[in-house]
Amino acid sequence: MILDEAFRKRLIIAAAETILAHAEELTELDRAIGDGDHGLNMKRGFEAVLGDADSLAGKPLGELLKGAGTQLVMTIGGASGPLYGSLLIAMGKTAVEPLVDLTGAARILAEGVEAVRKRGKSDIGEKTMLDVLAPVSERLSAAGSADAAGIAAELCALADRGLESTRQMRATKGRASFLGERSVGHLDPGARSSQLLVHAICGVFVRELQREEAGAA
Ligand code: ADP
Ligand code: MG
Repeated sequence: MILDEAFRKRLIIAAAETILAHAEELTELDRAIGDGDHGLNMKRGFEAVLGDADSLAGKPLGELLKGAGTQLVMTIGGASGPLYGSLLIAMGKTAVEPLVDLTGAARILAEGVEAVRKRGKSDIGEKTMLDVLAPVSERLSAAGSADAAGIAAELCALADRGLESTRQMRATKGRASFLGERSVGHLDPGARSSQLLVHAICGVFVRELQREEAGAA
């Protein structure tokens, strides 16, 4: 698979479009256990990234990720800005070589997730975006040279399961932790935005694989 400029642009557009399409829902989720700004925050951040899509897509993957992460830090605000920013910037620092296989992709995502853990002083089980990102990253790290389309489907299923797992969790990090027991019974907004992003990115890879197969047939 060639990560050319057109492909990189499709990744940026897919990520931004899913966030913009679900901004209201993200805000609703945050209204239940936070301060009701997650959708607005994410929309602001991804609109900025989308506005920069042409210039970002023209850069190598590492620079693209660092550039998008910096945009998110500057525009999102809240807790999620620095967290999503750290995720992308750490991924960008790791993506120094061209992305050639799943192992390379796994290494990049693992560094990003580790940066979120450090920045958020958080881990899986605390009702945050990590309940989606960590299992997805672990599965990708174990993928080896498996069939990429099958792995993409598994990653989406894990993201769905991770999101759903936050419903019965009590939040111990971020604003939702102020609610204590009352945070139980609601999905975490950051877990939902992460799950949306996993679906969007996997979708672009799967469509590209299908295009390649159709071209080779
Ligand atoms: P804020 O909480 O400042 O209003 P947002 O509403 O944009 O920021 O983002 C809230 C989301 O950020 C939460 O749903 C959660 O997923 C994530 N989050 C908050 N604190 C942490 C943390 N310490 N570690 C990981 N994720 C966190
Ligand atoms: Mg909020």
